[in-house]
Amino acid sequence: MADLYRSVGPPNFIRAYDEAEQELKFNLPPWRLSTASQKLLTVCLYIAIYLPVLVLFIITVGGYSIYLIFYIKPLITDIDKIPEVYYYHSESERNASKTKGWTFFSLITWCVLWILVSHYRALRTNAGEIPKEKEWDLPSEDNSESSNESTMLIEKRKDGTIRTCARCQHRKPDRTHHCKQCERCNLKMDHHCNWIANCVGYFNYKYFFLMVFYGALALAIFICTFWETAVVVLNDETSSQFLCLFIVLSYSLGSMLGIALLGFVIFHLWLISNNYTTIEFCEKKKEITLESKISPYKLGLFDNFKEALGNEPLFWPFPFKYRDADDKGLYFKVNR
Ligand SMILES: [Zn+2]
Ligand SMILES: [Zn+2]
Repeated sequence: MADLYRSVGPPNFIRAYDEAEQELKFNLPPWRLSTASQKLLTVCLYIAIYLPVLVLFIITVGGYSIYLIFYIKPLITDIDKIPEVYYYHSESERNASKTKGWTFFSLITWCVLWILVSHYRALRTNAGEIPKEKEWDLPSEDNSESSNESTMLIEKRKDGTIRTCARCQHRKPDRTHHCKQCERCNLKMDHHCNWIANCVGYFNYKYFFLMVFYGALALAIFICTFWETAVVVLNDETSSQFLCLFIVLSYSLGSMLGIALLGFVIFHLWLISNNYTTIEFCEKKKEITLESKISPYKLGLFDNFKEALGNEPLFWPFPFKYRDADDKGLYFKVNR
């Protein structure tokens, strides 16, 4: 079967599908020529893809604004209206509350800044594509699969043949998977993330991780401090019912989101320390023996973190200086 595939190329139905797809791509009318229904369909499609991105942005900026207005502002401003009886009773306590306010303001602003930058970079950075080089072409007579490069790959199909993608017409490097939503293969694919409208892979994993990490950190600060606002507002007789409900709801939702995000960060820290991607973890779960569950890419703890977050530990907490220019993400060190 493999020989047949090699000599005649991909099966007919795949070729027919690809031809139809190409034809469709090149024959779609440009925007000004398309009909109203085609325009509406395109707009709806874009909204569906980018809505979660917008929602995440609104949650970040909205949550930050609520924190500043209802928690930070009463701590650091001198307006008489503030129910100062709850925050300070003397001049020294007032200064202490100001210091506290400015400290949490700096911490939360630091986190929100990196959430936004990481979100943008995760969204805009290509997860990693297979290069259009002969080395990754499908096996054929003049492109023998017994080349040096393919013997360096360790992942094989169950029948022992090399992994290929019929949709992209490529050989697959190790840890590469095809994403149906992005309609292409991604290097060291972790998962497709709707919140960034992109796949998480070799070149943007750190940005995705930092976005989640700083999100969990910001929400941890929120959970540990914002309850004070809830106590003040609920005890203040001048607070309206709407304000009480708003503050309690904000705190409850923030806490739930924070706990969920913290769990997600712990899961990803575990994945990083075991050199797994989410897809590999799900696949390995099915393995029977304990030994086969261990990732073949698992190195020492420090090296595992270097593979996930980049070679320079000083830059791990920041969403830049990630992959080296000559790093293509095609081959991985193996634990023998
Ligand atoms: Zn593919
Ligand atoms: Zn994808």
